[in-house]
Amino acid sequence: MAESIGYDDTPILPGTRWHVHDGERPQPPVVDPGTPSTQGEPGRPPSDAIVLFDGTDLSGWESAGEEGGEAQWKVENGYMEVVPGTGSIRTKEEFGDCQLHVEWRAPEEITGDSQGRGNSGVFLMGRYEIQVLDCYDNPTYADGATGAIYGQYPPLVNACRPPGEWQVYDIIWEGPRFDGEELVRPARVTVLLNGVVLHHATEPRGVTSHKVVTEYEPHDEVGPLELQDHRDLVRFRNIWYRPLQDYDEG
Ligand code: MG
Repeated sequence: MAESIGYDDTPILPGTRWHVHDGERPQPPVVDPGTPSTQGEPGRPPSDAIVLFDGTDLSGWESAGEEGGEAQWKVENGYMEVVPGTGSIRTKEEFGDCQLHVEWRAPEEITGDSQGRGNSGVFLMGRYEIQVLDCYDNPTYADGATGAIYGQYPPLVNACRPPGEWQVYDIIWEGPRFDGEELVRPARVTVLLNGVVLHHATEPRGVTSHKVVTEYEPHDEVGPLELQDHRDLVRFRNIWYRPLQDYDEG
């Protein structure tokens, strides 16, 4: 059968044991890609995704405060919503390099401006913030705009939908690597908002903070996903990830 789908009389690809067009090279695993979301309905995740929030409950989440405890945000109608003052929340699960999908919605009713309008955040590994903010006709400092690597890199473009509409982050994340206390390789992140590229393989300068320049601090190769309570009524739905890994070629 192998003969019928490839070649074994072609050169070996350097660094592999496979011929060019090798008919015996293992097939990529099949993934049902699911369905895209609409404004009315969240889509269906890919078949191999690990679902972090499916719209029903916060059993996979906890308070991100020092004390931990239950996540206090509201869940209704297939989304979760920040309950201001209850604190940021994080997944109980910790994971590393991944493709991450998060949908969010800033409040339809506009209150505040600049950083005070629809502010939340997606904290990768609980440390590196991709800003969530209503930047639709709402100027703010560029490195704090929607999709900014907060305090470091502005997004390439402003691709915000109006407040009250669902917006989609697709994030490809590679965490930093450390050898003991030493940084071996910075993190690397690609971010799309509503299908538009905001960052491509951008390397954060360090952990996220406010009004300061930071550096990397050694940590594990896995961490939780954290969502920020910035006291605005931001909603989230349909949160999942897929670990980034090569498939087994035997
Ligand atoms: Mg924020």
